[in-house]
Amino acid sequence: MEFSAEATLIHVGTERRVGAPVGPVLMPTSTYFSQGPQDRSLPGYGRNTNPGWEAVEEALAAIEGPGCHAVTFASGQAAAMALLLALAEGRERIVMLDDGYYKIRDLVTKLRPHGAELVTVDLLDHDAVRSALAAGPSVLWGESPTNPLLRVADLARLSALAAEAGAPFVVDNTVPTALLQKPLELGALASVYSLTKSLSGHSDVLGGAVVTRSAELAEQLRSWRGTGGAISGAFESWLVLRGLKTLPLRIARQSENALAVAEFLARHPRVTSVYYPGLSDEPLAKAQMPNGSGCLLSFELSGNVDDADAADAVVAAARLIVPSTSFGGVESTWERRSRWTSETAPDNLIRLGTGIEPAADIIADLNQALRA
Ligand SMILES: *Cc1c(COP(=O)(O)O)cnc(C)c1O
Repeated sequence: MEFSAEATLIHVGTERRVGAPVGPVLMPTSTYFSQGPQDRSLPGYGRNTNPGWEAVEEALAAIEGPGCHAVTFASGQAAAMALLLALAEGRERIVMLDDGYYKIRDLVTKLRPHGAELVTVDLLDHDAVRSALAAGPSVLWGESPTNPLLRVADLARLSALAAEAGAPFVVDNTVPTALLQKPLELGALASVYSLTKSLSGHSDVLGGAVVTRSAELAEQLRSWRGTGGAISGAFESWLVLRGLKTLPLRIARQSENALAVAEFLARHPRVTSVYYPGLSDEPLAKAQMPNGSGCLLSFELSGNVDDADAADAVVAAARLIVPSTSFGGVESTWERRSRWTSETAPDNLIRLGTGIEPAADIIADLNQALRA
């Protein structure tokens, strides 16, 4: 009998044996009792395996779909780094969206001396993507919805363009998570995640993962992890697993809250634009994320687009929403996004990640903060 991915997520790591602990085991050890010739089926050293991260990998593979392998890392950036190193070999260009998570762009610029060049494109401009891919052997890096403008890219179409060019296509799926969007089913080679956001969900741990159906890529990633050393520690994996179990509940509530907040902001006189895929009646947004659009939205304040002070004043006036970067925790958080120097967002843009508070409380706080 097959149970749902959500049920599997809750039960992974629990042994069904009399006397076995039901709570996930925390096993902080750097090395394991071993002697004689190496036996790869048994744990030997903590850089190569930990039962805690194996349970997280099983959970992540289960929610992505059948036949998947997941490889976890110390952070989303570490996962992206391993994936880029594995895929950049023999390729010249990393073709990447120009309005995606800015730190991944920063990371790719650091690959240049090692051979791969950053080429940014608008993922919604398919002719631009096609010609960028045609210019040389490439990797196509996507993200949808984009961060922080929440634009929806057509992942199936991009998969087809990448396939035509012989380029591997990978998708940063951190914002929706595999519960709301499944890039591998739309033809991507791999989904990459920051586990730091909605997946772990409690603002208490950093983590990252790559999920793929390719056993070969998974093996390359494990090799980069073991040699590069960017592993997830035993305690970090334990925290991620604990958080993951409630992901279905949290992401549903966060999505409902984000939609309610987006609708409120769209009617507010101090707000000129609201970016949230759930608000759009474009068929693509609904088809790609049929069960909700996740916690992240952004909006622009009326007045001058360069007025960073006005945006800062609104953020600082919150009494419930926490002024901070990151998103996906149980608490709502927000920030003026352009305070990060390599971010391309306008100065009047505030990015908000809804938590799981009652929507009415978040809206009441917004209502008073927008008077600042
Ligand atoms: C946060 C984030 C990352 C980076 O992950 P870390 O865990 O902070 O290293 C990558 N992509 C997206 C979309 C993110 O939001």
